[in-house]
Amino acid sequence: MTARKLQFSGIFFDGRSSQKHHVDVELTPQEIILKEPGNEPIRWAYPHLRWAAETSPFHIEHPIADKNGEHLETLVVEDRDFYASVLKIAPESFSATAKGPSFNWKLYSAGMLVLVFFAYVFIKTVPSFLADQMVDKIPVEWEVTVGQSILKMLPVAQKPDPEVRKVLQDTVDLLEQSVKGDQPYDLKVYILPVKQVNALALPGGPIVIFEGLLSKAESPEELAGVIAHEIQHILLRHSTRGILRNMAESMLVSIFLGDVNSVMEGVINLAGELETLGLSREMETEADQKGMELILAANIDPHGMIRIFEKLIQEESPQKELPEEKPISEDNDMEFSFYFSTHPSGRNRLAQLEKQMESHENRIWTPLFPDLDWNDIKSVN
Ligand SMILES: [Zn+2]
Repeated sequence: MTARKLQFSGIFFDGRSSQKHHVDVELTPQEIILKEPGNEPIRWAYPHLRWAAETSPFHIEHPIADKNGEHLETLVVEDRDFYASVLKIAPESFSATAKGPSFNWKLYSAGMLVLVFFAYVFIKTVPSFLADQMVDKIPVEWEVTVGQSILKMLPVAQKPDPEVRKVLQDTVDLLEQSVKGDQPYDLKVYILPVKQVNALALPGGPIVIFEGLLSKAESPEELAGVIAHEIQHILLRHSTRGILRNMAESMLVSIFLGDVNSVMEGVINLAGELETLGLSREMETEADQKGMELILAANIDPHGMIRIFEKLIQEESPQKELPEEKPISEDNDMEFSFYFSTHPSGRNRLAQLEKQMESHENRIWTPLFPDLDWNDIKSVN
């Protein structure tokens, strides 16, 4: 136990000038005495005082009405013991009026709500805005590095069947030849030995085909439809933009939560967000449209793309839930079809593709791999 403290130092404002007076404060049972060297002590009797305790440090006010009008003298004491000491020594009548350094919860809650709202809007809009601004300035090398580091986290087949890989890579190469102008990416196919019907386009060039998609496709043309779509995600830098958005978003969230570790965690856990890669509906529509253009330019039968999209839409209905919280590699025994759960879907997308194809109905298409028995490719899985 410490003895009751009766001496404090404080700051006195006379209410007429903005000048601060450093004073020694002495508490007595009748009054508060403010002493400033060289000046007469100021004596405040408790009945003339009032608390102004909403603020911290709290202060005591001394309203004065004299020939110069009304003004307010104020005493501010930083020492936290001051409040308790005053309560103990002052007469009951004064102590009873003390509310203490209270906290305005209403104001606080309203403030927090506003803050949360703005944080939400900020987190939802700024990352995509920044990502869209930044994406064109990001060097290809950076995209390649990011794409490769994500690829390393995926259990892609180390020794894929050479024939399957060749067919897929030849499809990519054929489509690539039809890309107008130069493109800086090394478009390379990887096979992920899982049964999900899905495909991923990683920044900088890797195209990851899930085995489930291979067994779902019934012709090389069908697979080419999906590959063309994925190629466009890479060329249009959708994947890069999506990842930038995701990263910026999780970083902002973490910054708002004030946790630097989780910023790093967010970056590391990026693989967990692979399902979406932050691709927006607009990006999907664009990849569809440009993908179809690529198919047409490569003289590949576009009915294949239509067919695979139809199948994927059918698959989509019974299984809308994403298999969450599960590492991709553990899904080997389960067949999830979530190409369209991750690629926002709809009949409109299909209708758009069909419309795009309309004017090409009478064309003669070059069969893709005419000597290939597609069942050989499918049976590898
Ligand atoms: Zn897509």
